Amino acid sequence: MKYLIVGASAAGISAARTIRTYDKAGEITVVTEENYKPYGRPLISYVLKGKVKIENTNYVSESFFDDNNINFISGKKVVSVDSGAKSVKLDDGSTLDYDKLLIATGSVPFVPPVENAEGKSNIYTFLDMASSEAVNGYVTPEMNAVVIGGGLIGMKAAEGLNAKCKSVTVLELADRILPTILDKTAGDMMSAHVLESGIVCRTGDTAVRVNGEDKVESLTLKSGDTIPCDILIMAVGVRPNTALAASAGCEVNRGILVDNKMQTSVEGIYAAGDCVVTHNILDGSDKIIALWPNAVEQGKVAGAAMTGNELPYEGGYAMNAIDLFDLHVLTAGVMGAEEDGYEVSVTCDGGNYRRFCMKDGLLKGYMLIGDISRGGVYTTLIKRAVPLDSLAGEFKETPEYMLIPKAVRDEMIYGRVAE
Ligand SMILES: Cc1cc2nc3c(=O)[nH]c(=O)nc-3n(C[C@H](O)[C@H](O)[C@H](O)COP(=O)(O)OP(=O)(O)OC[C@H]3O[C@@H](n4cnc5c(N)ncnc54)[C@H](O)[C@@H]3O)c2cc1C
Repeated sequence: MKYLIVGASAAGISAARTIRTYDKAGEITVVTEENYKPYGRPLISYVLKGKVKIENTNYVSESFFDDNNINFISGKKVVSVDSGAKSVKLDDGSTLDYDKLLIATGSVPFVPPVENAEGKSNIYTFLDMASSEAVNGYVTPEMNAVVIGGGLIGMKAAEGLNAKCKSVTVLELADRILPTILDKTAGDMMSAHVLESGIVCRTGDTAVRVNGEDKVESLTLKSGDTIPCDILIMAVGVRPNTALAASAGCEVNRGILVDNKMQTSVEGIYAAGDCVVTHNILDGSDKIIALWPNAVEQGKVAGAAMTGNELPYEGGYAMNAIDLFDLHVLTAGVMGAEEDGYEVSVTCDGGNYRRFCMKDGLLKGYMLIGDISRGGVYTTLIKRAVPLDSLAGEFKETPEYMLIPKAVRDEMIYGRVAE
């Protein structure tokens, strides 16, 4: 049996490992267009910061491919799939045959159109090791850096840049940073925290125009202000990298569509990781969950299925662990609001913030800032759908948030005072 995996990251490597567990003799080939050995993508900001060396980001051993008899091809892009002939074409013109194909192509950066940005040499994205190295090679201590996008990737880029240049400004159109995982109170806490280290977060604002000839020199903002900019990082978001799957005839909408064995609509072709649409088991929605553990889990399911074994995938949910300038953030599940039928409990004491979201007697999501010590317990409650009334302690007692006047609670939770 010939197994071909496109993408050598969380999903691809997890699948390769799993295939080898089940099939000791099959031929496994992993292709990546990157010129690096598999590395922990979340670590690229630490490399930029100088905290971690590139070689320490590798998450498979030097001998992993040899030990597992896996053919590893790096620096080559798969440009098309012929699902009828069961072969793929690489960008050097060569072809590879397969019996089972895994598409684990991850994400591509979304670059929003900003007037006059085209062709400027000091604009970067921040999604892979090559971009981290490119930013590192360009930035100097006299520079003013601007990051467009205050999400996870933007904030990590800002942290990485902070030690390297004169100033770092983050522009985030939403009313808070990390808007998909934090509420207003938590987002504002994080903004205040990163400001202590010199990073300015301008929320509710973004760049509408780039000023400069060959390079960005300044930015005109939506608010009308103009700020200096010597290096610009576009970190507005990512999009699933579905081009190859589409070329193979796989059904794609927001991402690649797969069944619970990670098989696409085309027989023999599987997909896993950031490029697929995942069923969210907590709120029943189908969306992209672009997170490392999710990609690993899906790669495992796909790898098993490719060998004819079953590890059915029920779906996933978002879980984020972030550390910005030593302040820990742990979030999981849904950030539901009371108007959507969730019960919400918030406590805030000093540097610690805790928000729990419950429905039908079950914990559906949490947000912890500062003290994240019980995160594992809460995750288990979510994952195993443990009825909260069967528990003693925190969830049995009157939640402290009930003691806070509703208007204040609403402000804490939604960033506004209820009418
Ligand atoms: C800065 C940053 C910080 C992050 N922090 C966190 C975090 O704290 N926690 C967390 O859970 N997640 C985090 N993530 C997200 C996490 O890295 C991704 O969810 C994860 O890497 C997805 O794995 P994947 O295997 O699906 O795809 P990817 O890691 O995107 O890998 C896909 C690979 O496929 C290759 N490829 C694509 N197309 C082709 C082709 N046609 N031919 C050959 N090769 C191809 C790509 O070059 C790439 O190497 C972070 C991401 C970034 C960028």
